[in-house]
Amino acid sequence: MGSKIKKSDALAYHQFPKPGKIQVVPTKKHSSQRDLSLAYSPGVAEPCLEIEKDELQVYNYTSKGNLVAVISNGTAVLGLGDIGPLASKPVMEGKALLFKIFADIDVFDIEVDAKDVDKFVETVKAIAPTFGGINLEDIKAPEAFEIEKRLKEDLDIPVMHDDQHGTAIISAAALKNALEIAGKKASEVNVLINGAGAAAISCTLLYKKLGILAENIVMCDSKGVLRTDRTDLNEQKREFATDKDLYSLEDAIKNADVFIGLSIGNIVSPEMLLSMADNPIVFALANPDPEISYEVAVATRDDIIMATGRSDHPNQVNNVLGFPFIFRGALDVRATKINEEMKMAAVHALADLTKESVPEQVNITYHKKNITFGKDYIIPKPFDMRLISEIPPAVAKAAMESGVAQQPIKDWDAYREDLIE
Ligand code: NAP
Ligand code: MG
Repeated sequence: MGSKIKKSDALAYHQFPKPGKIQVVPTKKHSSQRDLSLAYSPGVAEPCLEIEKDELQVYNYTSKGNLVAVISNGTAVLGLGDIGPLASKPVMEGKALLFKIFADIDVFDIEVDAKDVDKFVETVKAIAPTFGGINLEDIKAPEAFEIEKRLKEDLDIPVMHDDQHGTAIISAAALKNALEIAGKKASEVNVLINGAGAAAISCTLLYKKLGILAENIVMCDSKGVLRTDRTDLNEQKREFATDKDLYSLEDAIKNADVFIGLSIGNIVSPEMLLSMADNPIVFALANPDPEISYEVAVATRDDIIMATGRSDHPNQVNNVLGFPFIFRGALDVRATKINEEMKMAAVHALADLTKESVPEQVNITYHKKNITFGKDYIIPKPFDMRLISEIPPAVAKAAMESGVAQQPIKDWDAYREDLIE
């Protein structure tokens, strides 16, 4: 999200010089008859037999270990909603491009014509042997929760629904830093989460791991505060229901230290913002329009620490800070899953990196003079070359320490060198 893009520019970008955004490129010689006899029959039978004897050999003889599936059924695409699998393809190809340019991970985008949870899960399970990891994308809640849970249980490769966990990881890193700048303790702040969908639920679960206390969290959906006396709450929402005397967003935002918006645009008024505690932390993440616009928010309160989902303001909570590097670290140790330890490692690595002095190249890329840790820089910028050398090792290490790495890294310096290349 960000500066205005013309429709004709966007369509031309996708259409020319050839339709789409990714292609397959051979990695072996293929000019002679001998090359072809190696690449295909008869030579190809040898690796087949090795893999038949020992399944893990698939990582040595095929591209599985660096191949991720970006899989969607098109039911919750960006801010576009349920546009179906075919219309979601440009988005999934776009995600493939991001995986490639930020972490050199190859992606097949897979658009599945299946809204039904059982059918979708069966389809993904059936094609999983092809891949080293699975990035679920733009699948609507609550189905997304069950789909991810079942695939994680049944598959022995990393599975992550990025709309849930990517957002949670990046925003948790930003929140950790924002709390530090505001001089507030995670265990003491009152947090209002506005929105109770895929992103909001997963963010809130991760914030609890940062030390935010359950009794200090209030969550709202489109009908108001999630209350214990409401009978319309699904299992995920019920977990966050409160019996406090709060009914509306307006009630709940009073004296809150932290507002996290994962709902819809323009629903927080300046008056509501003024009712928050001192040094309020406001993450207005609805896209493309935040819950309150950046301009209005900073004009209303000069003690605010603000983040949005947009690139045209400071502190963009951008998932691209997470998924390429998390999968990179997971693939590089052949992790069997992306677990809580690995997610938290990414949170801390992102938060810590923000506090390091920023390379001049980043200042230049963003047309800034001196980007430094503070209210306007609580999370790294996407075009920061240090992300690839800092985040994957942290994730890989956490995978090893939590016992899900099938191929531990022994030489960390050599690994970092490889990452930078
Ligand atoms: P979702 O699953 O459709 O959830 C949307 C949630 O917002 C629902 O719980 C809905 O309530 C609630 N809502 C709607 N109107 C509301 C209102 N007036 N007050 C309070 N809650 C309201 O969508 P999602 O994937 O979680 O995404 C939510 C928003 O966050 C989107 O705008 C998305 O673009 C944005 N987002 C941003 C980032 C980022 O910046 N990196 C990442 C992920 C998502 P009901 O449950 O009652 O329908
Ligand atoms: Mg998405």
